[in-house]
Amino acid sequence: MISLAQRLARPEILALPPTDTAAAAGGAPIGRSIKLDANENPFAPLVAGSIAASVNRYPEPQPVALRQRLADLYGCAPSQLWATRGSDDAIDLLIRTFCVPGTDSIAIVEPTFSAYAQFARVQGARVISARLTDDLLFDAEAVIAACVDAKPKLLFLCTPNNPTGTPVDPADVLAIARALPDTLVVADEAYIEFADTPSLVPQVGGNLLVLRTLSKAYGLAGARIGCLIADPEIIELASRASPPYPLPSLSIAATLDALAAERMPLHAERIARLKADRDALASRLRAVPEIQSIRTGGNFLFLEVADPAALAQRLAAAGIRLRFRPNAAPGGVRVTVGTEAENAAMLAVFGLTETTRPGRRAELVRDTKETRIAVAIDLDRSEPRSIHTGIGFYDHMLDQVAAHGGFSLTLACTGDLEIDPHHSVEDIALALGAALRQALGDKRGIGRFGFALPMDEVRAEVLIDLSGRPFSKFDGHFDTPEVGGLPTQMVPHIFRSLADSMACAIHVKVEGDNDHHKVEGCFKAFGRALRMGLSVGGSDTLPSTKGVL
Ligand SMILES: *Cc1c(COP(=O)(O)O)cnc(C)c1O
Repeated sequence: MISLAQRLARPEILALPPTDTAAAAGGAPIGRSIKLDANENPFAPLVAGSIAASVNRYPEPQPVALRQRLADLYGCAPSQLWATRGSDDAIDLLIRTFCVPGTDSIAIVEPTFSAYAQFARVQGARVISARLTDDLLFDAEAVIAACVDAKPKLLFLCTPNNPTGTPVDPADVLAIARALPDTLVVADEAYIEFADTPSLVPQVGGNLLVLRTLSKAYGLAGARIGCLIADPEIIELASRASPPYPLPSLSIAATLDALAAERMPLHAERIARLKADRDALASRLRAVPEIQSIRTGGNFLFLEVADPAALAQRLAAAGIRLRFRPNAAPGGVRVTVGTEAENAAMLAVFGLTETTRPGRRAELVRDTKETRIAVAIDLDRSEPRSIHTGIGFYDHMLDQVAAHGGFSLTLACTGDLEIDPHHSVEDIALALGAALRQALGDKRGIGRFGFALPMDEVRAEVLIDLSGRPFSKFDGHFDTPEVGGLPTQMVPHIFRSLADSMACAIHVKVEGDNDHHKVEGCFKAFGRALRMGLSVGGSDTLPSTKGVL
């Protein structure tokens, strides 16, 4: 029996030989073999840094590691996924694979992302247009009605929709796919990470396809990496329309780096933060009379106003670019959620000024041959706390520091624990200290000093001075060599590393009977001392007569 994919594909595509992804043509890293097959230049590129090391060679057409990583990230099999140069490229591939010029059509639900119609026109495919309702809601019946007789080869459903933020209920997408068995229904989930609806990747198969991208949620727009997720047979046919080496090696390397295990908690924290910032922006902008309605969905707001052109101009005059498409989405403008400072600049155009002091936040990645660490700290929020050092007891200790310190801490490390905990323990302390120092910024208004005393039979005392000068003193000893995988020898070392990288003075004194309690006492007391030192009072002055800290 002839399959759906075979039935819908262009005859020219069916006539092409299948792509052999395993053979990887001339480009695969093939160990020690001498590569005289691909007319590459034998010399290393004249670019500093190891990331560009093998750029003189062609990349793998579909790098096994990248395909596997993306499949794991999105929850599908590698055979269901084709990595593309951004998901834009996947849209183009699909249209070129399935639409016979002059004969076939695609369907879209306007207003929506402009690339679908653009690539269709380049291919000579017609564009059938359904619309969101007047209230910019998604109407599945109207979409089915627009497509049922026209039988477009592809229907693009952007969910949540760009630019309106309109979510499409996954049940609607599935119902549409059932109602249109001769159309490939493509859910473009470019912003799904910011939405409250689940991804359709688990349902992919038959005529349901999904597009994903690393451009929006993972901050890799410039790397140009996205993918098509579909039935393996569709993947195979689409791959025939792909250029031989679609993905630049620099982008492949950057992507694998950015999506490494220890980076993921930071991505989750950033996504949650962007969503919270988006909702906070929306709630402040609701007070602005000229804005009639605000829709949110992705990492952006769609503002409906009486005169969007004038608004776009006013923002442009303030040096802020936003998206206004008078033909496609005439009633509104789309504004992306930016950094705290960028958002404040945007709010200022609407006469909304900030009364609170800027947030004290820091993010840091620190990679060596021994450890790879990612940290985010927010001194003005107490949540989230997510700590993955690879050593359970150390997680617990750093959680105590953040909880008692009253700050949000996201920290993950991939380290050479198979050798010894030493590298991880020390490097994490250095990274944490550096992030704390960075988050403290100019230190205006802080308490600067701190001290504390706790717990049971143990007396632990930590004094700190966020002075800008590193000094550490540890007074105490442990009888057991380790507590929960953390060598007790490392405890004084952790405080020294923190003092060095935070540039502060830390004095620790601990006595008692139980080593577990003693270690825990030190970290809790340190957290409490930090809380006092970090805290900001009413004043904005620098707590130093010297005028610098
Ligand atoms: C941004 C965007 C894309 C394209 O992203 P790439 O950078 O090409 O991966 C796809 N679809 C929609 C709806 C978008 O907004």
